[in-house]
Amino acid sequence: MRYLDHNATTPMHPAALEEQLRVARDAWANPSSIHPAGEAARTEIERARRKLAKAIGARPDDLVFTSGGTESDNLAVRGLARAARRASGADGLAAPATEHPAVLDALRSLERDEGFRLALLPVDAEGRLDPSGFEAVVGEGTALVSIMAANNETGTLLPVDELAGRIRQLAPSAAIHTDAVQCLGRVALEVEALGVDAVSLSAHKCNGPKGVGALWLRPGTAIEAQQVGGSQEAGRRGGTENPAGAAAFAEAATRAAADREAHAAEWARLAALLRAELPGAWAGGVEFNTPESGALPNTLNASFRGVDGRRLAFELGRRGVAASAASACASHGHSASHVLAAMFPDDPERVAGGLRISFGRGSTEEDARALLEALPPSLEACRVG
Ligand code: PLP
Repeated sequence: MRYLDHNATTPMHPAALEEQLRVARDAWANPSSIHPAGEAARTEIERARRKLAKAIGARPDDLVFTSGGTESDNLAVRGLARAARRASGADGLAAPATEHPAVLDALRSLERDEGFRLALLPVDAEGRLDPSGFEAVVGEGTALVSIMAANNETGTLLPVDELAGRIRQLAPSAAIHTDAVQCLGRVALEVEALGVDAVSLSAHKCNGPKGVGALWLRPGTAIEAQQVGGSQEAGRRGGTENPAGAAAFAEAATRAAADREAHAAEWARLAALLRAELPGAWAGGVEFNTPESGALPNTLNASFRGVDGRRLAFELGRRGVAASAASACASHGHSASHVLAAMFPDDPERVAGGLRISFGRGSTEEDARALLEALPPSLEACRVG
Protein backbone atom coordinates (compact mmCIF):
# COMPACT_ATOMS: atom_id res chain seq x y z
CA MET A 1 0.00 0.00 0.00
CA ARG A 2 1.30 3.47 -0.95
CA TYR A 3 0.18 5.49 2.06
CA LEU A 4 -0.59 9.13 1.23
CA ASP A 5 -3.03 9.81 4.05
CA HIS A 6 -0.85 11.10 6.90
CA ASN A 7 -3.36 13.80 7.87
CA ALA A 8 -5.76 10.99 8.80
CA THR A 9 -3.15 9.24 10.91
CA THR A 10 0.52 8.28 10.83
CA PRO A 11 2.37 5.05 11.54
CA MET A 12 4.20 5.03 14.85
CA HIS A 13 7.86 6.02 14.92
CA PRO A 14 9.86 2.94 16.04
CA ALA A 15 11.39 4.93 18.90
CA ALA A 16 7.91 5.98 20.11
CA LEU A 17 6.74 2.39 19.94
CA GLU A 18 9.80 1.33 21.98
CA GLU A 19 8.96 3.97 24.59
CA GLN A 20 5.37 2.81 24.74
CA LEU A 21 6.41 -0.80 25.25
CA ARG A 22 9.06 0.08 27.82
CA VAL A 23 6.72 2.12 29.98
CA ALA A 24 3.78 -0.29 29.60
CA ARG A 25 6.08 -3.12 30.71
CA ASP A 26 8.10 -1.38 33.42
CA ALA A 27 5.77 1.28 34.81
CA TRP A 28 2.30 -0.21 34.50
CA ALA A 29 0.98 0.75 37.95
CA ASN A 30 -1.55 3.48 38.67
CA PRO A 31 0.32 6.81 38.82
CA SER A 32 -1.95 7.90 41.68
CA SER A 33 -0.93 4.96 43.91
CA ILE A 34 1.42 5.91 46.72
CA HIS A 35 3.54 2.74 46.65
CA PRO A 36 6.83 2.59 44.73
CA ALA A 37 5.21 0.97 41.68
CA GLY A 38 2.77 3.89 41.48
CA GLU A 39 5.62 6.32 41.94
CA ALA A 40 7.45 4.73 39.01
CA ALA A 41 4.40 5.32 36.80
CA ARG A 42 4.09 8.89 38.11
CA THR A 43 7.75 9.48 37.29
CA GLU A 44 7.13 8.38 33.69
CA ILE A 45 4.11 10.64 33.26
CA GLU A 46 5.98 13.65 34.61
CA ARG A 47 9.04 12.85 32.52
CA ALA A 48 6.81 12.68 29.43
CA ARG A 49 5.22 16.00 30.39
CA ARG A 50 8.62 17.70 30.60
CA LYS A 51 9.76 16.17 27.33
CA LEU A 52 6.60 17.12 25.41
CA ALA A 53 6.71 20.63 26.89
CA LYS A 54 10.27 21.05 25.64
CA ALA A 55 9.29 19.95 22.12
CA ILE A 56 6.53 22.58 21.86
CA GLY A 57 7.91 25.57 23.76
CA ALA A 58 5.76 25.14 26.86
CA ARG A 59 6.11 24.75 30.63
CA PRO A 60 5.34 21.21 31.82
CA ASP A 61 2.68 22.28 34.34
CA ASP A 62 0.66 23.91 31.57
CA LEU A 63 0.03 20.61 29.78
CA VAL A 64 -3.00 18.40 30.38
CA PHE A 65 -2.78 14.91 28.90
CA THR A 66 -6.00 13.76 27.21
CA SER A 67 -7.26 10.88 25.08
CA GLY A 68 -6.54 12.74 21.82
CA GLY A 69 -7.31 15.76 19.71
CA THR A 70 -11.07 15.33 19.93
CA GLU A 71 -11.03 15.33 23.71
CA SER A 72 -8.62 18.26 23.82
CA ASP A 73 -10.93 20.25 21.51
CA ASN A 74 -14.04 19.30 23.52
CA LEU A 75 -12.35 20.15 26.81
CA ALA A 76 -11.14 23.49 25.47
CA VAL A 77 -14.37 24.57 23.81
CA ARG A 78 -16.77 23.46 26.51
CA GLY A 79 -14.43 24.02 29.45
CA LEU A 80 -13.37 27.53 28.46
CA ALA A 81 -16.82 28.69 27.32
CA ARG A 82 -18.56 27.42 30.44
CA ALA A 83 -15.93 28.91 32.75
CA ALA A 84 -16.14 32.27 30.94
CA ARG A 85 -19.91 32.38 31.20
CA ARG A 86 -19.79 31.47 34.88
CA ALA A 87 -17.29 34.28 35.53
CA SER A 88 -18.80 37.11 33.50
CA GLY A 89 -22.02 35.99 31.82
CA ALA A 90 -20.32 36.19 28.39
CA ASP A 91 -22.05 33.82 25.99
CA GLY A 92 -20.67 34.59 22.52
CA LEU A 93 -18.73 31.99 20.54
CA ALA A 94 -16.91 32.50 17.25
CA ALA A 95 -14.83 30.37 14.89
CA PRO A 96 -14.09 29.97 11.20
CA ALA A 97 -16.56 27.69 9.40
CA THR A 98 -13.64 25.42 8.45
CA GLU A 99 -12.78 24.16 11.96
CA HIS A 100 -12.50 20.43 12.61
CA PRO A 101 -15.81 18.76 13.64
CA ALA A 102 -14.36 18.19 17.14
CA VAL A 103 -14.48 21.98 17.55
CA LEU A 104 -17.55 22.72 15.42
CA ASP A 105 -19.77 20.11 17.04
CA ALA A 106 -18.70 21.15 20.54
CA LEU A 107 -19.54 24.78 19.65
CA ARG A 108 -22.87 23.76 18.12
CA SER A 109 -23.84 21.73 21.17
CA LEU A 110 -23.22 24.78 23.38
CA GLU A 111 -25.47 26.82 21.08
CA ARG A 112 -28.19 24.17 20.83
CA ASP A 113 -28.29 22.96 24.43
CA GLU A 114 -27.04 25.83 26.54
CA GLY A 115 -28.10 29.03 24.82
CA PHE A 116 -24.67 30.28 23.76
CA ARG A 117 -24.61 32.48 20.65
CA LEU A 118 -22.46 31.04 17.87
CA ALA A 119 -21.03 32.92 14.87
CA LEU A 120 -19.23 30.87 12.22
CA LEU A 121 -17.05 33.08 10.05
CA PRO A 122 -16.78 32.75 6.27
CA VAL A 123 -13.43 32.07 4.59
CA ASP A 124 -12.09 32.96 1.15
CA ALA A 125 -11.18 30.55 -1.66
CA GLU A 126 -7.86 29.80 0.06
CA GLY A 127 -9.56 29.02 3.35
CA ARG A 128 -8.42 32.26 4.98
CA LEU A 129 -10.36 34.58 7.25
CA ASP A 130 -10.80 38.26 6.71
CA PRO A 131 -9.70 39.60 10.14
CA SER A 132 -12.34 42.30 9.90
CA GLY A 133 -14.94 39.50 10.01
CA PHE A 134 -14.31 39.30 13.74
CA GLU A 135 -15.28 42.91 14.23
CA ALA A 136 -18.97 42.24 13.66
CA VAL A 137 -19.19 39.28 16.02
CA VAL A 138 -16.47 39.57 18.68
CA GLY A 139 -16.81 41.99 21.58
CA GLU A 140 -17.60 42.41 25.26
CA GLY A 141 -20.00 39.46 25.36
CA THR A 142 -17.63 36.97 23.73
CA ALA A 143 -16.76 33.94 25.84
CA LEU A 144 -14.57 32.02 23.39
CA VAL A 145 -12.99 32.26 19.96
CA SER A 146 -11.50 29.15 18.39
CA ILE A 147 -9.08 29.45 15.44
CA MET A 148 -7.42 26.38 13.97
CA ALA A 149 -3.73 26.74 13.12
CA ALA A 150 -3.69 24.33 10.16
CA ASN A 151 -6.66 22.92 8.31
CA ASN A 152 -6.67 19.12 8.16
CA GLU A 153 -8.29 18.96 4.70
CA THR A 154 -6.49 21.68 2.76
CA GLY A 155 -3.45 22.41 4.92
CA THR A 156 -4.25 26.15 4.94
CA LEU A 157 -2.40 27.89 7.77
CA LEU A 158 -4.11 30.72 9.64
CA PRO A 159 -1.99 33.53 11.18
CA VAL A 160 -3.11 32.63 14.69
CA ASP A 161 -0.87 35.11 16.51
CA GLU A 162 -2.07 38.02 14.36
CA LEU A 163 -5.72 37.04 14.68
CA ALA A 164 -5.35 36.49 18.43
CA GLY A 165 -3.90 40.00 18.76
CA ARG A 166 -6.93 41.48 16.98
CA ILE A 167 -9.35 39.44 19.12
CA ARG A 168 -7.64 40.61 22.32
CA GLN A 169 -8.28 44.22 21.25
CA LEU A 170 -11.95 43.53 20.56
CA ALA A 171 -12.62 41.27 23.55
CA PRO A 172 -9.88 41.41 26.18
CA SER A 173 -11.53 38.84 28.44
CA ALA A 174 -12.53 36.27 25.80
CA ALA A 175 -10.69 32.95 25.86
CA ILE A 176 -8.91 31.97 22.63
CA HIS A 177 -8.36 28.35 21.63
CA THR A 178 -6.32 26.92 18.76
CA ASP A 179 -6.53 23.44 17.31
CA ALA A 180 -2.91 22.73 16.30
CA VAL A 181 -3.40 18.99 15.84
CA GLN A 182 -2.01 19.00 12.28
CA CYS A 183 1.03 21.14 13.09
CA LEU A 184 3.38 18.92 15.08
CA GLY A 185 6.34 17.92 12.93
CA ARG A 186 4.99 19.87 9.94
CA VAL A 187 5.39 23.53 10.85
CA ALA A 188 7.32 25.16 13.68
CA LEU A 189 5.18 25.10 16.80
CA GLU A 190 5.88 27.18 19.91
CA VAL A 191 2.60 27.18 21.76
CA GLU A 192 3.29 30.13 24.05
CA ALA A 193 4.15 32.33 21.07
CA LEU A 194 0.74 31.78 19.45
CA GLY A 195 -0.74 34.33 21.85
CA VAL A 196 -3.77 32.15 22.67
CA ASP A 197 -4.99 30.57 25.91
CA ALA A 198 -5.33 26.93 24.90
CA VAL A 199 -3.81 24.68 22.22
CA SER A 200 -5.00 21.19 21.25
CA LEU A 201 -2.54 18.49 20.20
CA SER A 202 -2.81 14.84 19.21
CA ALA A 203 -0.10 12.15 19.23
CA HIS A 204 -1.18 10.09 16.25
CA LYS A 205 -0.67 12.87 13.72
CA CYS A 206 3.08 12.96 14.48
CA ASN A 207 3.96 9.25 14.56
CA GLY A 208 2.76 8.70 18.12
CA PRO A 209 -0.01 6.41 19.32
CA LYS A 210 -3.73 6.89 18.77
CA GLY A 211 -5.86 7.75 21.80
CA VAL A 212 -3.34 10.18 23.33
CA GLY A 213 -3.35 13.97 23.16
CA ALA A 214 -2.73 17.09 25.18
CA LEU A 215 -4.23 20.47 25.86
CA TRP A 216 -1.83 23.29 26.61
CA LEU A 217 -3.30 25.98 28.87
CA ARG A 218 -1.82 29.40 29.50
CA PRO A 219 -1.24 29.79 33.25
CA GLY A 220 -4.23 31.37 34.95
CA THR A 221 -6.71 30.35 32.24
CA ALA A 222 -10.06 29.48 33.79
CA ILE A 223 -11.34 26.12 32.55
CA GLU A 224 -14.01 23.73 33.81
CA ALA A 225 -13.03 20.08 33.75
CA GLN A 226 -15.35 18.18 31.42
CA GLN A 227 -14.35 14.73 32.55
CA VAL A 228 -14.95 14.52 36.29
CA GLY A 229 -14.55 11.78 38.84
CA GLY A 230 -10.87 12.18 39.69
CA SER A 231 -8.44 14.95 40.45
CA GLN A 232 -5.81 13.88 37.94
CA GLU A 233 -4.05 16.43 35.74
CA ALA A 234 -4.33 19.07 38.47
CA GLY A 235 -8.12 18.69 38.53
CA ARG A 236 -8.44 19.61 34.87
CA ARG A 237 -9.11 16.10 33.52
CA GLY A 238 -10.29 13.21 35.65
CA GLY A 239 -9.33 9.63 34.80
CA THR A 240 -6.35 7.33 35.38
CA GLU A 241 -3.48 8.62 33.27
CA ASN A 242 -1.83 6.73 30.42
CA PRO A 243 1.92 6.79 31.19
CA ALA A 244 2.91 4.59 28.25
CA GLY A 245 0.88 6.67 25.80
CA ALA A 246 2.22 9.93 27.22
CA ALA A 247 5.82 8.67 27.00
CA ALA A 248 5.31 7.56 23.39
CA PHE A 249 3.69 10.91 22.52
CA ALA A 250 6.60 12.84 24.03
CA GLU A 251 9.13 10.73 22.13
CA ALA A 252 7.21 11.08 18.84
CA ALA A 253 6.83 14.85 19.26
CA THR A 254 10.52 15.25 20.05
CA ARG A 255 11.54 13.30 16.95
CA ALA A 256 8.96 15.10 14.81
CA ALA A 257 10.31 18.50 15.88
CA ALA A 258 13.91 17.43 15.25
CA ASP A 259 13.17 16.00 11.79
CA ARG A 260 10.70 18.67 10.74
CA GLU A 261 12.84 20.78 8.44
CA ALA A 262 14.26 17.83 6.50
CA HIS A 263 10.83 16.24 6.18
CA ALA A 264 9.18 19.50 5.14
CA ALA A 265 11.68 20.05 2.33
CA GLU A 266 11.08 16.56 0.95
CA TRP A 267 7.28 16.85 1.22
CA ALA A 268 7.37 20.21 -0.54
CA ARG A 269 9.34 18.60 -3.39
CA LEU A 270 6.78 15.78 -3.69
CA ALA A 271 3.87 18.22 -3.55
CA ALA A 272 5.50 20.32 -6.31
CA LEU A 273 5.88 17.21 -8.44
CA LEU A 274 2.17 16.42 -8.05
CA ARG A 275 1.18 20.02 -8.74
CA ALA A 276 3.07 19.80 -12.03
CA GLU A 277 1.80 16.37 -13.05
CA LEU A 278 -1.73 15.99 -11.70
CA PRO A 279 -3.43 18.25 -14.28
CA GLY A 280 -2.20 15.87 -17.00
CA ALA A 281 -3.92 12.95 -15.29
CA TRP A 282 -7.47 14.19 -15.88
CA ALA A 283 -8.74 16.00 -18.93
CA GLY A 284 -11.95 16.83 -17.06
CA GLY A 285 -10.07 19.50 -15.11
CA VAL A 286 -8.00 19.58 -11.92
CA GLU A 287 -7.97 22.48 -9.44
CA PHE A 288 -5.81 22.82 -6.36
CA ASN A 289 -7.56 23.65 -3.12
CA THR A 290 -4.35 23.98 -1.11
CA PRO A 291 -2.79 27.45 -1.43
CA GLU A 292 0.74 27.52 -2.92
CA SER A 293 2.09 29.34 0.11
CA GLY A 294 0.91 29.50 3.68
CA ALA A 295 -0.07 25.84 3.86
CA LEU A 296 1.22 22.68 5.50
CA PRO A 297 4.13 21.37 3.40
CA ASN A 298 2.79 17.79 3.47
CA THR A 299 -0.76 18.47 2.23
CA LEU A 300 -2.13 18.78 -1.29
CA ASN A 301 -5.88 18.91 -1.83
CA ALA A 302 -7.10 18.85 -5.43
CA SER A 303 -10.56 18.72 -7.01
CA PHE A 304 -11.25 16.58 -10.05
CA ARG A 305 -14.17 17.92 -12.09
CA GLY A 306 -17.06 15.56 -12.70
CA VAL A 307 -15.86 13.07 -10.12
CA ASP A 308 -16.98 12.16 -6.60
CA GLY A 309 -13.94 12.45 -4.33
CA ARG A 310 -15.05 9.66 -1.99
CA ARG A 311 -15.52 7.28 -4.87
CA LEU A 312 -12.11 8.33 -6.19
CA ALA A 313 -10.45 7.60 -2.83
CA PHE A 314 -12.13 4.19 -2.84
CA GLU A 315 -10.95 3.41 -6.39
CA LEU A 316 -7.41 4.52 -5.56
CA GLY A 317 -7.48 2.26 -2.52
CA ARG A 318 -8.42 -0.68 -4.73
CA ARG A 319 -5.29 0.10 -6.76
CA GLY A 320 -3.03 0.21 -3.74
CA VAL A 321 -2.92 3.95 -3.03
CA ALA A 322 -4.32 5.39 0.22
CA ALA A 323 -5.64 8.98 0.09
CA SER A 324 -8.78 10.68 1.45
CA ALA A 325 -11.76 12.63 0.28
CA ALA A 326 -12.31 15.43 2.79
CA SER A 327 -11.19 14.15 6.20
CA ALA A 328 -11.12 10.55 7.37
CA CYS A 329 -13.87 11.35 9.89
CA ALA A 330 -16.17 12.85 7.27
CA SER A 331 -15.60 10.20 4.65
CA HIS A 332 -17.68 7.59 6.43
CA GLY A 333 -20.51 10.07 6.80
CA HIS A 334 -22.66 11.22 3.94
CA SER A 335 -21.91 14.90 3.84
CA ALA A 336 -19.45 16.49 1.44
CA SER A 337 -16.51 18.45 2.80
CA HIS A 338 -17.71 21.39 4.92
CA VAL A 339 -14.26 22.92 4.40
CA LEU A 340 -14.43 22.97 0.59
CA ALA A 341 -18.10 24.03 0.82
CA ALA A 342 -17.04 27.07 2.88
CA MET A 343 -14.31 27.92 0.34
CA PHE A 344 -16.41 27.36 -2.80
CA PRO A 345 -20.06 27.87 -1.81
CA ASP A 346 -21.15 28.30 -5.44
CA ASP A 347 -19.26 25.39 -6.91
CA PRO A 348 -20.70 22.05 -5.71
CA GLU A 349 -18.76 20.13 -8.37
CA ARG A 350 -15.45 21.39 -7.00
CA VAL A 351 -16.59 20.57 -3.46
CA ALA A 352 -17.65 17.04 -4.41
CA GLY A 353 -14.47 16.29 -6.35
CA GLY A 354 -11.93 16.98 -3.59
CA LEU A 355 -9.12 14.54 -2.89
CA ARG A 356 -6.64 15.01 -0.05
CA ILE A 357 -3.10 13.75 -0.50
CA SER A 358 -0.93 14.01 2.61
CA PHE A 359 2.70 13.01 2.98
CA GLY A 360 4.50 11.94 6.13
CA ARG A 361 7.60 10.36 7.56
CA GLY A 362 8.91 7.86 4.99
CA SER A 363 6.92 9.19 2.01
CA THR A 364 8.88 8.78 -1.24
CA GLU A 365 8.79 9.88 -4.86
CA GLU A 366 7.72 6.31 -5.70
CA ASP A 367 4.60 6.87 -3.60
CA ALA A 368 3.80 10.04 -5.54
CA ARG A 369 4.44 8.28 -8.86
CA ALA A 370 2.26 5.35 -7.82
CA LEU A 371 -0.57 7.82 -7.25
CA LEU A 372 -0.03 9.35 -10.69
CA GLU A 373 -0.21 5.89 -12.23
CA ALA A 374 -3.30 4.79 -10.31
CA LEU A 375 -5.22 8.00 -11.00
CA PRO A 376 -6.29 7.66 -14.67
CA PRO A 377 -7.95 4.24 -14.31
CA SER A 378 -9.43 5.24 -10.94
CA LEU A 379 -10.85 8.44 -12.40
CA GLU A 380 -12.35 6.60 -15.36
CA ALA A 381 -13.96 4.13 -12.96
CA CYS A 382 -15.72 6.83 -11.00
CA ARG A 383 -16.69 9.45 -13.56
CA VAL A 384 -20.06 10.89 -12.55
CA GLY A 385 -22.77 10.68 -15.25
N1 PLP B 1 -8.41 18.38 15.01
C1 PLP B 1 -7.87 18.21 13.79
C2 PLP B 1 -7.48 19.41 12.99
C3 PLP B 1 -7.71 16.92 13.28
O1 PLP B 1 -7.19 16.76 12.05
C4 PLP B 1 -8.09 15.81 14.08
C5 PLP B 1 -7.97 14.44 13.56
O2 PLP B 1 -8.48 14.11 12.53
C6 PLP B 1 -8.63 16.04 15.35
C7 PLP B 1 -8.77 17.34 15.79
C8 PLP B 1 -9.05 14.92 16.24
O3 PLP B 1 -7.92 14.29 16.80
P1 PLP B 1 -8.02 12.79 17.33
O4 PLP B 1 -8.11 11.91 16.12
O5 PLP B 1 -6.74 12.60 18.10
O6 PLP B 1 -9.21 12.69 18.20
